[in-house]
Amino acid sequence: MLIGALEAGGTKMVCAIGKEDGTILEQISIPTTTPEETIPKLIGYFQDKEIEALGIGAFGPVDVNTESGTFGYILDSPKLAWRHKDLVGGLKKALGIPVGLDTDVNGSCLGEVTYGCAKGLDSVIYITIGTGVGVGVWVNGGLLHGMLHPEGGHIFLPRHLEDPDGGICPYHRNCLEGFASGPAIEARWGKKAVELVDMPEVWELESYYIAQALVDYILVLSPQKIILGGGVMHQEQLFPMIRAKVLEMLNGYINTEELGDMDNYIVPASLKDNQGIMGCIKLGLNALDASR
Ligand code: ADP
Ligand code: ZN
Repeated sequence: MLIGALEAGGTKMVCAIGKEDGTILEQISIPTTTPEETIPKLIGYFQDKEIEALGIGAFGPVDVNTESGTFGYILDSPKLAWRHKDLVGGLKKALGIPVGLDTDVNGSCLGEVTYGCAKGLDSVIYITIGTGVGVGVWVNGGLLHGMLHPEGGHIFLPRHLEDPDGGICPYHRNCLEGFASGPAIEARWGKKAVELVDMPEVWELESYYIAQALVDYILVLSPQKIILGGGVMHQEQLFPMIRAKVLEMLNGYINTEELGDMDNYIVPASLKDNQGIMGCIKLGLNALDASR
């Protein structure tokens, strides 16, 4: 059985055809311009592929509530051309198949839970640290939506004493995304993160902010595993720094088997940057199941 997968990002749309076991058979990328221009191209790609369902992991904020009149719409996104535009309706109508939708980060979390390092666990969080910061949450065996969906990239954090300028988030300034996204690193140090590998102070601040956020997520959501993905987390030296700081900040308040095995608790994404698109396959499969 073939399933369509669409990772709908603010700069590009990754479209793929895959199988139930998560195998990707083919994949293309289409630039994200306006909905009027982009959606017909997406339909054009998927329409003759004999897929039985489509799963979409979307940039947001996006309405993922299937009961809502604006299900599938992009909401108050900074991507103005997409604000209050329907991402899903046109695709669903043209393709005539079940369509599953969630946030891109919930999609990645689902990919890891279904096919990757979090298989079999019932509470997991997936955090991407890239152009923005997003958090996908799997709790008690399901993806968390609540009133909208989690926006865990924007939790407020205290500034590091040696961070002169604070954060760059236009909404909150000093939130995780404002402090720790790729653009935040670039704004603070005047160079792209990848060019700052040999400066320990860069990663000291970065791991301090990420660790604080993880402590908050651990205390509120009690995840059994925390997965860190996105471009910035390709800096693997961050992992031991983050693990040590998390334990230091928790200060012995929680003692679980998981926290006693930090190398397997705070981990990199395990699916070679395919966690998002593979999660979309599972979103498609879930939509197909729900339609039967
Ligand atoms: P996006 O978030 O746009 O989907 P990425 O997850 O690749 O895409 O994130 C892009 C951000 O990550 C950029 O700010 C870039 O500077 C940073 N980045 C990409 N690769 C690396 C790397 N190897 N090391 C550190 N930072 C990186
Ligand atoms: Zn913010």
